[in-house]
Amino acid sequence: MGNTKHTGPIKIPKKPDSKLWVSKVPFGLGKVKPHHIRDTMKVVWENKDNLPYATRILTQGVCDGCALGVSGLRDQTLTGPHLCTTRLNVLRLNTMGPIKDSILFSDIDELRKLDSTELRKLGRIPFPLLRKPGDRKFTRISWDEALDTIADKMKMIQPKQAAFYTTSRGITNEVYYTLAKVSRFLGVNNIDNASRICHSPSKTALSRSIGVGASTCNYKDWIGTDVLVFWGSVAANNQPVSTKYMYAAKRKGTKIIVINPYHEPAMDKYWIPSIAESALFGTKIADDFYQVNIGGDIAFMHGVMKHWFEMEENTPGSALNHEFIREHVNGIEELKEKVMAYEWEQLEKSSGITKARMRELAELLANSKSAVFVWSMGLTQHRFGTDNISQVANLALLRGFLGREHCGLMPIRGHSGVQGSGEMGADPFSLPGGGLDKESRERVEEIWGFKIPEWQGDIVGVSLENALLPDEHERKLKLYYMSGGNFLETMPDPDFVKESLENIDIRVHQDIILNTSTLLDAKQAVIILPAMTRYEQPGGGTSTSTERMVYFSPEIKGPRIEEARSEWEIYVDLAKRVKPEEKELIDFKDTHEIREEIAKAAPNYDGIQHLKNRGDLFQWGGAWLCEDGICPTPDGKGNLITVEIPELRKPEVHFYVTTRRGKQFNSMIYGEKDPFNAADRYDVLLNEDDGNGLGIQEGDAIVVFNQYGTFTGRAKFVPVKPGNIEVHWPEGNSLIPKGVYEDYAGIPEYNTAVIVEKAETYYAHKDTKYVEKRVEELELEPH
Ligand code: SF4
Repeated sequence: MGNTKHTGPIKIPKKPDSKLWVSKVPFGLGKVKPHHIRDTMKVVWENKDNLPYATRILTQGVCDGCALGVSGLRDQTLTGPHLCTTRLNVLRLNTMGPIKDSILFSDIDELRKLDSTELRKLGRIPFPLLRKPGDRKFTRISWDEALDTIADKMKMIQPKQAAFYTTSRGITNEVYYTLAKVSRFLGVNNIDNASRICHSPSKTALSRSIGVGASTCNYKDWIGTDVLVFWGSVAANNQPVSTKYMYAAKRKGTKIIVINPYHEPAMDKYWIPSIAESALFGTKIADDFYQVNIGGDIAFMHGVMKHWFEMEENTPGSALNHEFIREHVNGIEELKEKVMAYEWEQLEKSSGITKARMRELAELLANSKSAVFVWSMGLTQHRFGTDNISQVANLALLRGFLGREHCGLMPIRGHSGVQGSGEMGADPFSLPGGGLDKESRERVEEIWGFKIPEWQGDIVGVSLENALLPDEHERKLKLYYMSGGNFLETMPDPDFVKESLENIDIRVHQDIILNTSTLLDAKQAVIILPAMTRYEQPGGGTSTSTERMVYFSPEIKGPRIEEARSEWEIYVDLAKRVKPEEKELIDFKDTHEIREEIAKAAPNYDGIQHLKNRGDLFQWGGAWLCEDGICPTPDGKGNLITVEIPELRKPEVHFYVTTRRGKQFNSMIYGEKDPFNAADRYDVLLNEDDGNGLGIQEGDAIVVFNQYGTFTGRAKFVPVKPGNIEVHWPEGNSLIPKGVYEDYAGIPEYNTAVIVEKAETYYAHKDTKYVEKRVEELELEPH
C-alpha cells in the first residue's frame, strides 16, 4: 500500500484549445450525440413532485449511480461541478412515491405484461407482499409474517440449500458487511453479489498479480500521464463524468488509446456539458483506436510483449524497465519464453490486429514514462477474464507503470457498490478484509464471536443451477434471498433462469421496485420486502468508489415509504428470528456501530468509523497501491503470469457476438435509441463489408442464432471489426450459453459464436436447413 495521500482536486485550464474541438459548428448540430440539456429538463419534469428532495439528494448525497464516485456535486479529481445524466436518470428511484394499490393488486398476468422499465416507473414497493402458488394477486402481509415465514423456512432446510444475493446499485458498505456477517451466522456460504457478472476477474487477477484486487491509482493520474489506455471500456457512456477527466488529460498532452472491437462513438468524440468549449464544439477523445477481435485481447497483449522482447534483443533497455523488474517483479524468464513461443501469424489471427499495429502500440508504451490502463467488461466478461486482466498487469509490471504518479491499473466499476461488496465479504470467496484462508477466517471469527462455516459457497450462476437439483440433494436451492437484481435480464439464457427461479420453494426479493423476476412464481411463496434507499437509511451509509475513496452519504430529509426498512436492519431481524438463542451475536444498534466493526474486520477500512457527516471521506491504501513498486504479496513483488492464448474456435461463416450498453445504466434502460449512434435496442451492429457479403442491406430484418437461442433484429452498419457483431445487453442474453464460467472468478461467458442470416431466408428454411444442420456445427464450440 502507500503512504502518499491523495492531494485533492485540481483546476482545468480556462482558456480553450481549438485543437481538441470536434467541429466549429456549435452544439454538434447535425451530429448524432446526446442532448444533455433536453435530458436534464426531462428529469426535472419527472421529479417535479419532489424537487426540493431531489435537489438535496444531488447536493448532499453520494451518487448511487456508477462507481466514479462523487459526494454532492464535488469530486476529488477536478474542481467544478460533477453531475451526469446517469445520476439524473436514477434520481427518480429515490423520489417517487409508492405503487398505487389499484395497480399493485392487479392480476399477476396484467403486471407481467409490463417490462422492467414500465414496472420501475410504477413506483416504490410500499409494504411486504406475498404470493403463493395459484394466487392471482399479491397479498399485503406484515413484516412479522414475512420474516417469520422466511425464518421458519431457513430453520427447516440445510444452510447449503439457502443462498443470498445482493446487487451493486445504491447499496452501502454497511449493508454488504451486515449481509456477509448474517449469512455466515446462519451457516450460509452461498452469498454472492452483482460483481460476479462484471468485475470479479479484476479482483482475482490483480490479487494474484500484485497482491491486491483494487485500482492502484486515482483518476487524477489520468491527467498528465503519457498514455491512457481504455481496454474494453466505454467509460464515456458508463461513467460519463470520466470524459471531463479525459478532457483534462488531453489538455496536459496525454494520448488516449481505445482498444475495443467497435469504434465506439462515445470514446471518439464527446460534448462535455460542464466544460463550455466542449459543450459548444465537442472534444476529440481517442487519439487512436485498436479494433481487436472479441476475445483477441490476450493475443494482442502477447504481440505487444513479444515486440518488447524483440526490441530488447536488439537494444537492451529499449523496452523493459529492468530496474523495476529486477527489484519488484517475479517470473520474467517464464513469461519471455511463453510469449516468444507464439508466432506473429497466430497473434495476428487471434487478435485481428496486424503485427505492424501491435508494434506501434508496443513502441508507444516503450517510449512513454508513464501509463494508466483502464478496463471494464470488454476484458472481464470472458471465460478467460482473469487471464485477460493478468496480461494487462504484465504490461504494467514490465514497464514499471505501477505505484507512482500517473501510472497504474484501474478496473473501472459500473455500479456504486461493486468495489465495496467484495471488500465487505459479500461473496463466496471473501470475508471482510481478506479471503477464506484459515488465517482470515480465524481473524474474523474472533471479531464476530461465532464460527464461520468452512464449506465452499457457490457463485450466483451455480446457485441458479442448484435450483434444478432433485429435492433431496444437499445443495438443492430451496430459499433464495435477493437484495435487488433481476437475473431474468442479467444472466445468460433467460429461459433457464426462469425455470430455476420458479423451482425454488421460497424466493425473497428485498428491493425498492418491482422487476420481471419478482413477478415469477415460486414453489411455495414469493415474498417481497420494501427496502430503503441509501438516502433514507437512518445514520447514513458509505460507498467505495473505483479509486478506493470511501464516501459518507448522510440520511437526507424527505418523504419516506412508510414500511420500507434499512436493508441491514432487515437482515439482522431475520437472523435473530432464526437463531433467537444467539441473537446478541448479530445485533447492531445503528450504522455507526457497523462502521466501527468494519474498521476492525477489514483493516484497510480503518478510518471508516470516523465518517459521520456529509462530505466525509477517506481513501484506503493511500494514493497509490504498490507504492514504489512494493506489492502486498508475500515477497513484496509483483508476479508476471503466463497464460495460453485462448482457442477461439469459430467455424467458417460464423461471427463472434458480444453485448454492449446503449442508453441505459447497467440493466436499467432509459431510452430505446442509443444517443451516440442512433441504434435501436434490437439493432444488430455489424460491419458493412460483412453485411454485403451476406447480401444484407442496412435496416434489413436479420436473425442471429446459435444452439442457445435466436435474436431477431435489424442490421445496422457500424465500424465494428469484421467478423464480429454486437447486440445490446440484456436483450442479447438469449444467445449466451448458460453454465460457462471463467475458471478463477466464476464470471459467466458473455461472448459466443453465432450465424447471421437475413430474416426472410432464416424463417423460410429454419425447420429444414438451418436449425437441424447448422446448429450441429455449432456444437463444436468450446465450452
Ligand atoms: S459519472 Fe457516475 S458517479 Fe459521477 S455523477 Fe455520473 S453516475 Fe454519478
